[in-house]
Amino acid sequence: MSEKIAIIGAGIGGLTLALALEKKGIDFHLYEQANSFEALGYGLQLSPNVVRILQDLGMGKELEAISHRCLGFELRSFETDRTLAQWKLDSDTPYYQCRRADLHQLLYNSLQNKNKISFAQKLQSYQVKDEQITLNFQNQDSVKVFALVGADGVRSHVRKTLFPQEKPQYAGYAAYRAILPFKTEYHSLMDKATVWMGENHHVVAYPNGNQNPWLNLVLVVKNAQWQEQGWTIPADKQEIAKSFQNKSKLLNTILTDLVSNPEPCYKWGLFDHQPLPFWTQGKITLLGDSAHPLLPFQAQGAAMAMEDAYILARCIDQKNTIEEAFIKYQDLRLKRTAKVQQTSRNNADIFHATGIKAMVRDMGLGLISMVNGQLLNQKTAWIYNYNALDLS
Ligand SMILES: Cc1cc2nc3c(=O)[nH]c(=O)nc-3n(C[C@H](O)[C@H](O)[C@H](O)COP(=O)(O)OP(=O)(O)OC[C@H]3O[C@@H](n4cnc5c(N)ncnc54)[C@H](O)[C@@H]3O)c2cc1C
Repeated sequence: MSEKIAIIGAGIGGLTLALALEKKGIDFHLYEQANSFEALGYGLQLSPNVVRILQDLGMGKELEAISHRCLGFELRSFETDRTLAQWKLDSDTPYYQCRRADLHQLLYNSLQNKNKISFAQKLQSYQVKDEQITLNFQNQDSVKVFALVGADGVRSHVRKTLFPQEKPQYAGYAAYRAILPFKTEYHSLMDKATVWMGENHHVVAYPNGNQNPWLNLVLVVKNAQWQEQGWTIPADKQEIAKSFQNKSKLLNTILTDLVSNPEPCYKWGLFDHQPLPFWTQGKITLLGDSAHPLLPFQAQGAAMAMEDAYILARCIDQKNTIEEAFIKYQDLRLKRTAKVQQTSRNNADIFHATGIKAMVRDMGLGLISMVNGQLLNQKTAWIYNYNALDLS
């Protein structure tokens, strides 16, 4: 295909698509609303299903250099600090933990032709006429393109136009994210992701970065209402430390460090929506959070966006028409992403269980740990063993 494809949004998904298309020699142009390249955000976990893709796109070494390698998981009780389960990952492909900003920068640096990105281009509307799509930007620019991919995140403008009635719903959880310099006192958190699960609260802690690692913290609390939007809303650290007080000496030390640490702490409301019935309409399709916003409870938001991007590029390369390519891509992706969306929601209930539900959860985990903790790998095998490189 020789005509130009427009990608809206230079986030994780949009940049991965740009890279995958560039590698195949397919023409595209990327439009981003931000004024310049801004690498923002805290930690991301990159499971083997997405590491395979990044390795195939030629970023294996660089990815390793910005990441901490996670070897397993530990689930602890927020109320008693008891270890409920721990197990080692059984994949040959690494599971990495890095800063979102570093991954974003790596994707951007890997793109050979930076002239293919235009900044300060906020898509405001588009019209489809005579086999062409006209994109209108907030700054009054407009451009005619051959096809359109909405990689414009959870508040996607492209999705709003395809599905005016489908709005992301607040899922009832507020999340706080912070990073702290990794101290020797935190050594028991090395080489894994640790989750403290408790009544209406949970905390995820993992090291990220390679040299001089940081401790990445995500603290989630059930919260009936949410008004603000954005990724960089400052949070009150004293209030967080108070509301997340618990029985773990280590976690309480971390909370005290959080208050005195000069790095800011941010809050955001968690939004998702029911899986969409389709993403493709003619020469327009959606990708990543714009197609399937995910709650972060399976750590698969960035992974699903990058899987989408890699597979979409391959469909465009293999099919004769863009319409066929977009339909094939949708067929390959709808079911899997809907299942991951549902799994993330289910994990929210498991992490925050109360009363009998929490007792059953803790007993079940205890029993599995007694028999063989490694069995817990089976729960995520369908996510982590997925190999986008093998799909036809
Ligand atoms: C600033 C930021 C910080 C984040 N921090 C974290 C974090 O710390 N931890 C975590 O787990 N996840 C974080 N996320 C979410 C995570 O990166 C995404 O869920 C995931 O990577 C999905 O990627 P995506 O490409 O679908 O969407 P995103 O990575 O959200 O990218 C969407 C892109 O589209 C652009 N855009 C939106 N609307 C328009 C428009 N109308 N015109 C042009 N461009 C538009 C946005 O500016 C953005 O660059 C963050 C996302 C953002 C945008």
